[in-house]
Amino acid sequence: MAQKKQGDLSVLLGYAGKRKGLTFLGLALSAVAMALSMVPYICVWLVVRDLVAVAPDWSAAGAIAGYGRAAFAFAVAVIIVYFAALLCTHLAAFRTASNIRKQGMAHLMKTPLGYFDANASGLIRNRLDGASSETETLLAHNLADIVGTITMFVAMLVLMFVFDWRMGASCLVAAVISVGAMFAMMGGKNAKLMEEYQAAQDRMSKAGTEYVRGIPVVKVFQQTVYSFKSFKEAIDDYSAKARHYQGDVCRVPQSVNLTFTEGAFVFLVPVALILAPGALASGDFAGFVTNFAFYAVFSAIISTALAKIMFAASGMMLADTALGRIRPVMEAPVLDVAENPEEPQGNLIEFKDVCFTYEGATEPALAHVSFAVEPGQTVALVGPSGGGKTTAASLIPRFWDVTSGAVEVGGVDVRRIDPHVLMDRVAFVFQNSRLFKTTILENVRAARPDATRAEVEAALAAAQCGDIIAKLPQGIDTKIGADGTYLSGGEQQRIALARAILKDAPIVVLDEATAFADPENEALIQKAFAALTQDRTVVMIAHRLSTVVGADKIIVLDDGAVAEEGTHDELVAASGLYARMWKDYSKAVLWRISTEGEGA
Ligand code: ADP
Repeated sequence: MAQKKQGDLSVLLGYAGKRKGLTFLGLALSAVAMALSMVPYICVWLVVRDLVAVAPDWSAAGAIAGYGRAAFAFAVAVIIVYFAALLCTHLAAFRTASNIRKQGMAHLMKTPLGYFDANASGLIRNRLDGASSETETLLAHNLADIVGTITMFVAMLVLMFVFDWRMGASCLVAAVISVGAMFAMMGGKNAKLMEEYQAAQDRMSKAGTEYVRGIPVVKVFQQTVYSFKSFKEAIDDYSAKARHYQGDVCRVPQSVNLTFTEGAFVFLVPVALILAPGALASGDFAGFVTNFAFYAVFSAIISTALAKIMFAASGMMLADTALGRIRPVMEAPVLDVAENPEEPQGNLIEFKDVCFTYEGATEPALAHVSFAVEPGQTVALVGPSGGGKTTAASLIPRFWDVTSGAVEVGGVDVRRIDPHVLMDRVAFVFQNSRLFKTTILENVRAARPDATRAEVEAALAAAQCGDIIAKLPQGIDTKIGADGTYLSGGEQQRIALARAILKDAPIVVLDEATAFADPENEALIQKAFAALTQDRTVVMIAHRLSTVVGADKIIVLDDGAVAEEGTHDELVAASGLYARMWKDYSKAVLWRISTEGEGA
């Protein structure tokens, strides 16, 4: 376990790059600061020694002012050195945190696009942000405190045994008892109780937030006691756990802990009484009194220091949590980039015996799929839901890589094409097209950063976005997502189409999904589709058969395999799956027309 922690820490420190040394310098300075912090106590001892030696002629103790000044100087030095220590650890921690973010982002740039479908961007951001802030706390504060406190403790132990080991040991007994009591509260089976108590506290606070958020619903629907139920249960549960843990489990050990922390001298006094006659007899009673005075002052800080070590050590757990967060990001599979990429010749798309299984899935999403899309053709992928249409389309721009077989563009396996070249060649619009929180202009221009404003406007016009732009306060310079400017699903789809049109790529992969669009949007989207697909090689995922009738070829995907392939007329004549789907579709359309007719 300890070895693993060490491993975690060195992995984290690895992100500090050239500033790794600063962390170690900071830790060393922190140790020096804490060792120096013991010097004022030695000064106290010296003052007492001199005073006892000259008692009651106090004026003879000429050196004590010097000791006082030395104590002050060391106290100031401790502050300065500790400040320098924190400066170093912070510089290293900030660099580490920013490197975690940068390397995380750099790694994400190499992951296949499909990774972002499976991992919401909010989650990824949460992981990177959480990891870097935890790392910051750990490296900037906790580590320095751990090293500093351990040094302080060792220095204390040395001091305790330097002057009079018997009195030193008596102080330590109280410290050991108070720390033992603390362990009794937090260790063993009580650790579980403490976790449960903390979990109950979390649940209560979550339930509280939920309750407050739900107040409008409660008001609108006139709900009363029932809506309060889960919040009340969370409070009751917390109260029971708190009572049990705080009351039954912690009462005795906490009392012992506090008693011995505050009364650390409780063993010192009897030990001193036992030692006193011997000291008197030996003739060095002054030395004995000096030591006693020193330990009486010193004993007070021992338990506090021990408690500090325990709390600081719990900070080490942060290394584990931070790594736990970033690992899924840093270890996400990346796209292989060919060393000597090949240039695709033309726009022929070919699926050659493609099999593909999603990570973690037991059944393949595609099994031995082969088909070709000739340059300039429009090919429609149809079939029952879950048949593999989206999966097949997303293999072309390498959202994922095939498990076996190959997807070729222009006669070259997509894995052997430079990713930038492939991206320039393929434009895609899937259902979940996302818009950035920036202006419409920049959103569209993302497809081709060197495009002029006029080109963006032309693309927007071709994508039938005129009505959207007209109603926005600053036209194409309006920021989406800010100041209450939100677009409907259909409107967002049209902006995404404008983006694809501006890209002007020879190959277009398109999800027809207009399910969410209202009739007005639907007509406009169809026009935008026409502008986008004109004179291009198109693979279209079709959901409604009316749009596929004119396609050059229809591929029917069922259960991950190509069930049929041909033109609309050929497939209807073949009386297979497509013919049945067409019959159902025609019936539905007829039914709709007839009911609409009745309504009129
Ligand atoms: P279609 O587009 O024809 O509805 P899909 O290509 O979306 O079909 O799905 C094909 C199969 O792959 C389905 O069984 C589906 O459950 C599965 N699938 C789709 N996406 C994922 C994913 N991200 N992870 C695991 N399985 C998936």
